[in-house]
Amino acid sequence: MKFGGTSVEDPAAIGRTAAIVAGRVAQGKNPIVVVSAMAKVTDQLLRAADAAATGDRAGALAISSRLRSRHRDTATELVKNREDGCALINMIDQEFDSLDEVLRGLAAILELTPRISDLIVSFGERLSSQIVTVAFRERGMNAAHVDAREIIITDSQFKRAIPQDEIIERKVPEKLLPLLHEGKVPVMGGFIASNEAGLTTTLGRGGSDFTGAIVGGAINAEAIEIWTDVDGIMTTDPRVCPDALRVKTISFEEAAELAYFGAKVLHPATILPAVKKNIPVLVLNSRNAACEGTRIVSLAPHCKSPFKSIAVKKKLSIIDLVASRMLMTHGYLRQIFEVFDKHKCPVDMVSTSEVSVSLTVDSNSHLPAIAADLSKLADVKYEGKKALVCMVGEDIRGQNGIAAQVFNAVRHINVRMISQGASEINMSFMIEEDDADEAVRSLHAAFFQEPDPTIFDVEARKQLSVVSGR
Ligand code: ADP
Ligand code: ASP
Ligand code: MG
Repeated sequence: MKFGGTSVEDPAAIGRTAAIVAGRVAQGKNPIVVVSAMAKVTDQLLRAADAAATGDRAGALAISSRLRSRHRDTATELVKNREDGCALINMIDQEFDSLDEVLRGLAAILELTPRISDLIVSFGERLSSQIVTVAFRERGMNAAHVDAREIIITDSQFKRAIPQDEIIERKVPEKLLPLLHEGKVPVMGGFIASNEAGLTTTLGRGGSDFTGAIVGGAINAEAIEIWTDVDGIMTTDPRVCPDALRVKTISFEEAAELAYFGAKVLHPATILPAVKKNIPVLVLNSRNAACEGTRIVSLAPHCKSPFKSIAVKKKLSIIDLVASRMLMTHGYLRQIFEVFDKHKCPVDMVSTSEVSVSLTVDSNSHLPAIAADLSKLADVKYEGKKALVCMVGEDIRGQNGIAAQVFNAVRHINVRMISQGASEINMSFMIEEDDADEAVRSLHAAFFQEPDPTIFDVEARKQLSVVSGR
């Protein structure tokens, strides 16, 4: 059971989380709990790191001090048992003392390496997992804290480290199964890990979902539950489109595609361990635990409508290359991709004609260097602030007239690049970032008017229209 930042954001949220886990224990299940840092803590730790690295020592320590108070207050409110409460407050103070030491050191050397960045952000999950453990104990559960860094072993690519499956498959059961056999509820932080030398690493932003799935996979769990702040995977981001519907069932493939193309509800790598072991993944709402959420399984039932959900990936750049030398030659694309490979820059979408190639990549600080290398091969132009809209559904390729319907829905918006056919379950196109929300709302209105009740939660929409009188 993985609980995201909003599910542990304050004493009330941690209380709800405890009740959900206790409910599973009461059903005779043996849950393992993975938690994120309290909501927004990771962002603030990164801000503290940036402040320290730019010489703003006081600013960095002020952020840390506010975080210390937030964690202390949460612990005090949750834990009434004197002895446990004191021990927890001491632990929190020790953690913040060492965080402050790192920040002071950083403010002296003024260089934020990925390794130090990971060390600093790791405090978020280290703290939340220990507070949650004690809060669970106070609520009658036999919870045991586990330091994720002892069992989630990765390579040394700080900030987006790659888990070392073989070691993890050994360590996770070795450490967690004995606890389960003793009737304990293991609680650990997500996102944080360590390399083989014991240095702290992280799995990349949003990586707690991935930890949950890795642990579930390594112990062959009955299910991997991702508890968050929405009812499940929705037909699109409900923050952009408030009448988004819950998708009841979706396939691994579709969910992976959505996650990769920007549906923040799931980290893109979450599906991998589940697919390998064929473990169902459930996305559930810790604020509405009675809702059945979304079930991600290997084979989803047939859906009458072409699309299940719309994702958007923002902060992308488009790179246009034009070279007449490309005409009638071969090996040219290889040379282009070698440049991206050299800069370790993943490419999301590609479109080519005889003499030109357009590619989309995440906007990043390496772009000028990439463009400089590419300019040896072609005329290069690049532009940021683009968004990729990705429509996901089964068998898009096999249905007539789909493209016409999609582009009719966004006919008022300038489309820069299109990709269809590469995947059977995805149709995507690139637009200006500022047009993205409007495009999503238009597409949602066009494709989710009469949703198939076997796949989508239409009841929720009916209730909404009764309340709003629509
Ligand atoms: P957590 O902290 O629990 O990991 P996140 O903030 O990472 O939660 O992810 C949940 C958020 O993802 C939701 O609040 C929602 O705004 C956003 N989101 C984006 N796309 C979707 C989608 N298709 N379905 C559900 N939520 C989505
Ligand atoms: N706390 C981390 C983040 O904000 C990991 C996570 O929440 O999944 O990115
Ligand atoms: Mg998340």
